[in-house]
Amino acid sequence: MPVYDYECENCGKLFEELVISYSVPDSEIKCPECGEYKAKKKISAPSIAGSSSSHSSSCGASGFT
Ligand SMILES: [Zn+2]
Repeated sequence: MPVYDYECENCGKLFEELVISYSVPDSEIKCPECGEYKAKKKISAPSIAGSSSSHSSSCGASGFT
């Protein structure tokens, strides 16, 4: 079963929802934070971490504070 990322348009809560069917409309996804059915499915971009050759390692601890 796919897990989708949702963002609530009411409170801005980001959460994951396990969706039983591919055809579950966003309007049936309840926000766990405020209880509103205002969630929007977020299309998660495919992760390209670790497959880039043009960019040198930028995930090292180099002054992130
Ligand atoms: Zn909400």
